[in-house]
Amino acid sequence: MMYRQTPAEAGGEAVVSAAGGRLLLERGRRQFFDDNALEPPGVRDVIRRSWARVRDLAVPLEDPQTRLLEVESDTLLERAARPVLQSITEPLSDVELICSLAGPDALLRLPFAGRSMFARMLAEAGSLIKGYDFSESIVGTNGIGTALAIGRPVVVDGGEHYVEAARGISCAASPIRDPVSGVVVGAVNFTCPVGASSPLLLAMTTSAAAQIERELLTTANRADLAVLRGQVNPAAQRALAVAEDRRRALREHLHRASMNATSTDVQTLLGQVMQIAARLFPFDAVWAMRRVGDAPLRVVAIDGDVAPGALGALVPEETAMMLDRAACGEPGRSGSWHGAGHPSGRSPESTSAGVRPLPGQRRLIRRWVVAAAPAGPRSPFPQTSQTMLVVASDLAGSEGLGQRGLSRDLLTEIAFACDTACRFEEISKLAASDPLTGLPNRRCFLEFAQEAFGRCRSTGQPLATFMVDIDRFKRVNDTFGHRVGDLVLTRVARCIQAALRPGDIVGRIGGEEIAVVTAAMPAQALVLAEQLRRAVADIRLSTGSGTLAVTASVGVACLDARDQRLSDLLDRADRALYAAKDAGRDRVVAA
Ligand code: GH3
Ligand code: MG
Ligand code: MG
Repeated sequence: MMYRQTPAEAGGEAVVSAAGGRLLLERGRRQFFDDNALEPPGVRDVIRRSWARVRDLAVPLEDPQTRLLEVESDTLLERAARPVLQSITEPLSDVELICSLAGPDALLRLPFAGRSMFARMLAEAGSLIKGYDFSESIVGTNGIGTALAIGRPVVVDGGEHYVEAARGISCAASPIRDPVSGVVVGAVNFTCPVGASSPLLLAMTTSAAAQIERELLTTANRADLAVLRGQVNPAAQRALAVAEDRRRALREHLHRASMNATSTDVQTLLGQVMQIAARLFPFDAVWAMRRVGDAPLRVVAIDGDVAPGALGALVPEETAMMLDRAACGEPGRSGSWHGAGHPSGRSPESTSAGVRPLPGQRRLIRRWVVAAAPAGPRSPFPQTSQTMLVVASDLAGSEGLGQRGLSRDLLTEIAFACDTACRFEEISKLAASDPLTGLPNRRCFLEFAQEAFGRCRSTGQPLATFMVDIDRFKRVNDTFGHRVGDLVLTRVARCIQAALRPGDIVGRIGGEEIAVVTAAMPAQALVLAEQLRRAVADIRLSTGSGTLAVTASVGVACLDARDQRLSDLLDRADRALYAAKDAGRDRVVAA
């Protein structure tokens, strides 16, 4: 088996045969450790320098101490590395190979094992446990620790390890650099039994490191890329351009998704858009909130880890104020804050001080971003309205959430998309309802009534129509003024609506005429109509000039063979109404 050094680590040194090389190394090792030789034979420069560093740190040659430290889970590095290392190690499940990822602190993050016997051997040594410290200062010359110490790829082969116990293995490790800043963010390591070592081992680590760096690149931000452009080589520039294209494509995708989704409701839209957005920035929970006019801020859509009961919930006022401040109240502005358990508290301490979390928030989250889409000239309403998006994340990779220009732009874009969806919903509602009473308007009533008419006619189910008209309403207006007239109309509408059953159709079809369509047999219809009449007659309204009472007349028609079209049924109810008026008003007459 040949062991070939890379030009990078050997500086162009010659190929050394394994057997001869090992004997030479043995001799060099003895001379270095026992005789304190400065230039031991058969020991590569890179290893000798590492040994010297480690000896200065007084790491024992035998029984070195080991150390397990707590490490953060699911970091950006881990998420970039996991798929890469998985795909490399999957076909090698039969091979005596361990592949692992360490952080910049040389602590083990992700171990991937090939053949189980070999893995078990290393596992017994403890070195396959997350948090195991591979620093040179702890375990001496080794793949991860040494690669991180020198900032270059390295192979540490058998006896080149500082401690005796690691003589049976070969390790190749390569530092992973942040593709934008160039800072070392971790190391990837491949370990195999010493006899199986080959140039392939180092090639695999450097290739894995490059792949992980490419993954990291896709999450880099535009501002950083611009700085980088002045400094990097053409290959890196090409990689950056590719990454930028990918992000642009994602962004366009997101934009299209938001645009296409405007006809659906805001909850569906948020779900669709956040699914795409998650590919750009990780998040735990998202709230879309909206306020119209002076009404309090209300949750209109949620995504991620938020309790479903939060939908429609009001946001506590002090939380809303905090959100306003974070969003700065300026068009398209977004703000962020960190270190808080929830948006009401800036510091973890304040989270326990009785400040309430967002509706449906299930746990403390440290990172928050608020993006707002305010009412602008696009608003068809006289009142102002505002839609806000609050994104919370504790996930690794979300460190830059809100600071990165890209994610902030996107969040604002999503806030605008939610705003559009809300407006669409509000406008649709407005177009179908009567602004004074809030009842469905004539057009909307006829649409629903037509549907019920067609269904009942073909199935033979019963259907009844009431025409309700306020008696002598003109007089109310003349006596008390139009404003009071409006109040009476509103009260009558509310009163009729309250008396109806689920599934009944109601609408304001004329000035002071309200129509109802209900699934009722004739006898039951008369009872219901009488209930409506009595409910209206019970209304009492205090005005400046005394208490006001009103009555209404009701015409009832029940669907029968004569009704070819909806208008036939409605006309018969209308005629019954006139009959009720003629008979003295405040009564129910059936057609
Ligand atoms: P009747 O018992 O025969 O129905 O008498 P009426 O006075 O109710 O009948 P008429 O149809 O002559 O008058 C209806 C009045 O309802 C006329 C109109 O001023 C009033 N009206 C219609 N829409 C509104 C409204 O939105 N607000 C107010 N305040 N009045 C309205
Ligand atoms: Mg009337
Ligand atoms: Mg009328």
